[in-house]
Amino acid sequence: MSTTTISKTEKVKSAASDKSAQKSAVKNEKIEVDSRMNLIKHKIFILSGKGGVGKSTVAVNLATSLALSGKKVGLLDIDFHGPSVPQMLNLSNVSVPMTGEEIIPVTDGKNLKVMSIGFALDNADSSVIWRGPLKARLIKQFLGNVQWGALDYLIVDSPPGTGDEPLSLAQLIPHPDGAIIVTTPQLISINDVRRCVGFCKRMNLKVIGVIENMSGFVCPNCGEITDIFKIGGGRQMSDYLDIPFLGSIPLEKDIVSASDEGKPFILHYPGTMAAHMFNKIIENILN
Ligand code: ADP
Repeated sequence: MSTTTISKTEKVKSAASDKSAQKSAVKNEKIEVDSRMNLIKHKIFILSGKGGVGKSTVAVNLATSLALSGKKVGLLDIDFHGPSVPQMLNLSNVSVPMTGEEIIPVTDGKNLKVMSIGFALDNADSSVIWRGPLKARLIKQFLGNVQWGALDYLIVDSPPGTGDEPLSLAQLIPHPDGAIIVTTPQLISINDVRRCVGFCKRMNLKVIGVIENMSGFVCPNCGEITDIFKIGGGRQMSDYLDIPFLGSIPLEKDIVSASDEGKPFILHYPGTMAAHMFNKIIENILN
């Protein structure tokens, strides 16, 4: 046998052993993710076609409300390009080491555990160029290596659109309950709801329902309602696509200040019309 032949054979052997090592690593990761996720009763994705429509606001307030009602809740923010959950929960200065085997989520000491990609960034000025494989690896880590423990709900806030991140989630999380789609009422946002619904269908992910956010503005002085982003588009699209409509939330200036101050709106402004609408939506989700 010539030297060239031996080295070719060795190359083939080593490529085969690399492949099998890769396969077993993927299998182990899947086992890790499944064993963590199987301890969680309900897994809900919050999706939106566009950014800025209130997806994180819904995720934070839904998680807070469930935790206040005594449920054990996890909130996972994988919005790589604009994680807002730390700011919305006054956790901006918290950092969590992302190395090591087990990642300990940030907890309020009671019912809520939070993990955000924002905890991995040193400060608000940090930006990282996230490439697809890196994102997928981190999502796996967030699902398989975070000490979520036994939870009633895991709420996942993913980036807008139907790209890599929701795809990884839908492929990785076993038996999710489904997705809630957040939209604003105007056509330019509503059209993206169809894309989200199409994505859910392709991934066999149930659409729990649509929330129309920023639906009309009630003047605090005279009570007159102004349809800044129009009104009713979310319901019309839900009817058209034959998916549940969960309710609408008006534009409310206290939602903006609550987010900026890191105070969950539903907890700090319970008497407002928006909080009332939020609670009705949560009831619909739970039903
Ligand atoms: P997304 O996650 O879709 O990008 P966010 O939840 O981060 O959107 O919301 C974007 C901004 O809009 C935030 O400043 C938030 O406080 C504000 N906001 C969300 N919903 C409302 C609402 N109903 N009324 C007023 N401001 C809102």
